[in-house]
Amino acid sequence: MSPLTTDSQAPNTIRVSHLNHADRPVRVLYVMGAGRSGSTLLDSILANHPDAVGGGELVNLHSAGWSSNEVCACGKLGTECDFWTRVRSAWQRRIPDATVASYIALQKHFEFPHWFGLIQFARLARQRFFPSGAFQTYLRQTAALYQAIVEVSGRSIVVDSSKTPIRAAVLSRIQGLDLRLIHLVRDARAVAWSRRKSLATDQAAGVQTTIKPRPSWYSAGYWALINLLSMLVCLLSGSRSLRLRYEDFVTEPKRELERLGTLCDLDFTATITALLHGDPIRVEHPIAGNRMRMGGSVRLKPDWEWRDRLPTREQVICWLCAGWMLWLFGYSRNRRTAAEDVAMQPANATRPI
Ligand SMILES: [Zn+2]
Repeated sequence: MSPLTTDSQAPNTIRVSHLNHADRPVRVLYVMGAGRSGSTLLDSILANHPDAVGGGELVNLHSAGWSSNEVCACGKLGTECDFWTRVRSAWQRRIPDATVASYIALQKHFEFPHWFGLIQFARLARQRFFPSGAFQTYLRQTAALYQAIVEVSGRSIVVDSSKTPIRAAVLSRIQGLDLRLIHLVRDARAVAWSRRKSLATDQAAGVQTTIKPRPSWYSAGYWALINLLSMLVCLLSGSRSLRLRYEDFVTEPKRELERLGTLCDLDFTATITALLHGDPIRVEHPIAGNRMRMGGSVRLKPDWEWRDRLPTREQVICWLCAGWMLWLFGYSRNRRTAAEDVAMQPANATRPI
């Protein structure tokens, strides 16, 4: 079978089919949005489906998991975890000329953000009309990673919560990949509150490097840019997508998981039942991501801490920096009262992060 296929979205170009036709088809559920929006929780819940496997932040697998040898959610180092060791072997078998170092070099050029990712988006736009050999190589090697995960896990769906819209744009260029985009949004003031906290390095707890606190204006600006880029990727990529608000997900998990099920062509009934019963959701081997992945399981609980803890002045700063987009996503400038918060919480919920 010829590996060449015509590109229906860019008829003047010929693109290489990046997936090995002998492999099983791969569906990728990609979670994108700003950090501290609940993506690790969502990754774990989506991966609870028996056909899915949760990869965590796969954008960091080669650098954090295999090069820096950081700790997997199972508690073992990235190079000692049986799952990721077998994935690495399966990946290398598909692309014997590649190395972890050479792949990271391509990632730095095409995917790791410089100038908040704007340089990478400019490069991706150029590749759309003038595709280079290096970019095609990068797409093939990235496709091989998802095929390797499917092979080793025995499941056909990979959840990737890398969050970056740059990677979503890259994945949308892989011929043969069945990509579904989930644009996860959380109130910018909650994100700002979370990013005001500092975390010391603690490998065993899943904190790989010291996290410094960020001022609210910086976090709100970052939040607005990431969400703007995420909206553009959903609009331009041609992939099926939906926008999911963290606040809706944690208060109405049944309704929102049914929406996600429609997007992903999956039945989440068993997961919904488990969440409504307050059952823990098992976490397997997500790499990188929020430290909550290290607990072996997660539970669902709304987290409104910012409403009581983020000073009013900081909330005003967030609204000044990102209010137009908060309004676009349906957020109110006024926070709800504590009584309203209690009324919105499921009776059996516990804290997720
Ligand atoms: Zn592991």
